[in-house]
Amino acid sequence: MKKRLKFILFSLLLSASAFVVNAQANFTKIENYKAYYGVATHLPRELMILRSFDNYGKHYLLLVNPQTLETRIDESDFYQVRPMSMTQARAFFITTPYQKALKKAEKQSVAIQDAGIEAGIPKETGISLTADLCPSHRPLDKVIFTDLIAEFKKVERPVPVALSITGVWMRQHPQDLDWLKKMQANKEIYITWINHSFNHRVSLKQPLKENFLLEPGTDINYEVLETEKAMLKNGLLPSVFFRFPGLVSDQQLVYRITDLGLIPVGTDAWLAKGQQPQAGSIVLIHGNGNEPVGVKDFINLLHSKTQAIAKKQWLLYDLRESVDEEFEDTTKTK
Ligand SMILES: [Zn+2]
Repeated sequence: MKKRLKFILFSLLLSASAFVVNAQANFTKIENYKAYYGVATHLPRELMILRSFDNYGKHYLLLVNPQTLETRIDESDFYQVRPMSMTQARAFFITTPYQKALKKAEKQSVAIQDAGIEAGIPKETGISLTADLCPSHRPLDKVIFTDLIAEFKKVERPVPVALSITGVWMRQHPQDLDWLKKMQANKEIYITWINHSFNHRVSLKQPLKENFLLEPGTDINYEVLETEKAMLKNGLLPSVFFRFPGLVSDQQLVYRITDLGLIPVGTDAWLAKGQQPQAGSIVLIHGNGNEPVGVKDFINLLHSKTQAIAKKQWLLYDLRESVDEEFEDTTKTK
């Protein structure tokens, strides 16, 4: 009995330490950061491993819960670890929402623009909001967030938003990033951090097939993994989502991204381009100060939904819940 109690206490302590890590420590001395796949088991938890790294002498894993698409960082000691190839790991989790979402994105990989998942579950009334933070010298468009919080105050708290972030933006805007983190810490918003590449290079002259990440000489591993490292250094938790700069990709590039375990997210409602959001849409605006028209459209959209929001008939959905058709949303009352 005593032994059992000890075991329970030990488990609790372990869970507590795992929790502390997930409250987003800043990993300021990351070494050996790499793609690393397999299964991590700590019953009843069975997670897929995506990355491994060291920080101040401790070994960590970036993991995804394949049922909920939630990610977490834990010390590897906490788990029984079975390393696998990506193909083996995907086969192991084949029936899960995460694998289905990867597959769905691969099926929609041929188009030069807007490959990947581009709309959520159509039966939902409401949208998922994604705002891109491409490199920019302008400040963060804070009104997106302050207005969201004001509209959803009594209905949804924290308000779920997904921000596609680049390594360069993080470097350019430490104060804006702190502001966002503070909003998250105060539980006013919940941010899903989408990887939007590190450099987000773009040429005004090149055709799409040689532009953005299709520019010859682009190092995809660097663009993906360095962004994740920058997120971790800044105390952000990487998600399993990726947004192509300019929404530009080809089939080979989509497979490079899914081979890294990331789900490309497109959009069916880029507001600044006049695309109207439908129920279940993945809406795209830019939060980096470069697209005031889209932000204005979004604010107008929000205000036109004030009554529906108050009656919980129009909600914002967490991107992680939106991508899987079979996901039963039990957290929201309609
Ligand atoms: Zn962008």
